[in-house]
Amino acid sequence: MTSQLPFATHALFLIGQGIGGSRTPAMHMKEGRELGMSTTYRLLDASVHGLTVDDLADVLQWARRLGYTGFNVTHPFKAAIIPHLDELSERAQALEAVNTVVIRDGVAVGHNTDWCGFTRGMEGQLPGVMAGATVVQVGAGGAGSAVAYGLLDSGAAKVTLIDLDHERAAAVADRMARLYSPDRVEVGADLAGALAEADGVVNCTPMGMAAHPGCAIPDELLRADLWVSEIVYFPLETELVRRARATGCRVSDGGGMACEQAVEAFFQFTGVQPDRGRMLAHLREMVGHA
Ligand code: NAD
Repeated sequence: MTSQLPFATHALFLIGQGIGGSRTPAMHMKEGRELGMSTTYRLLDASVHGLTVDDLADVLQWARRLGYTGFNVTHPFKAAIIPHLDELSERAQALEAVNTVVIRDGVAVGHNTDWCGFTRGMEGQLPGVMAGATVVQVGAGGAGSAVAYGLLDSGAAKVTLIDLDHERAAAVADRMARLYSPDRVEVGADLAGALAEADGVVNCTPMGMAAHPGCAIPDELLRADLWVSEIVYFPLETELVRRARATGCRVSDGGGMACEQAVEAFFQFTGVQPDRGRMLAHLREMVGHA
């Protein structure tokens, strides 16, 4: 039997690997508090609790039985959770990846808020640049797949995917070609050549994180008329962000995506639109003071 918590009480969690530093619980709990809700949000770190993909069915079943409102899902479970869900949103189905599961009346519905987190984050910092743009995207992993989808959904004319792992880039390009049009997406190998013809570049590699210092885009390839989008948000001021600003580029940092994916997840969980400005300020304060 499914237990049901009273209205405006929300029990949530994030399941993933190595998520100890996640700011998501703090974001949801503070915003819930601000809106007069009682929100608990805990971390279910697979590496701490010894969880694997084989445990996902049990995790979902217990979440239902214990009356959880839902949960967020991150690496390496975004695809593996799908067979266990009752329904999928159209976007999650297209992306074959779920980062938000909402449980209502015992029915578990998978959503993807990463792609719209990216596009809304971009609209907040670099409004209007994606439509009609020629874009180079470096990195085509889990987050990169959502970003490529977001770029194409926002009307990018052409997205060139470059990844050290050529097959990963090819797999994302194939999926996007099926969803949009084959002439709007390609796999590239020549970063300098592709950037020379681009309006913008997005970093979807881990380079720039504290654990992966450096920058996937060499300094000499940056130029003032190229907009630069970073999705790494820890730290917010990555080497790419710093160098791009110094070059005079228009820059979007990773804070927008990190916040907006949580804003949309909050709405999916609660049915209440949170205050995105307040959530963004909270995230920037937490990451800035980390
Ligand atoms: P991932 O490991 O699935 O994919 C990263 C990809 O980058 C891999 O395919 C790898 O081969 C490629 N790569 C690494 N170095 C490269 C280089 N120098 N040139 C070309 N390709 C390179 O990781 P992911 O889940 O896609 O996440 C990537 C990063 O995005 C994370 O490290 C995280 O910082 C950031 N992220 C941010 C948000 C946000 O909300 N802002 C959300 C998710 C992920």
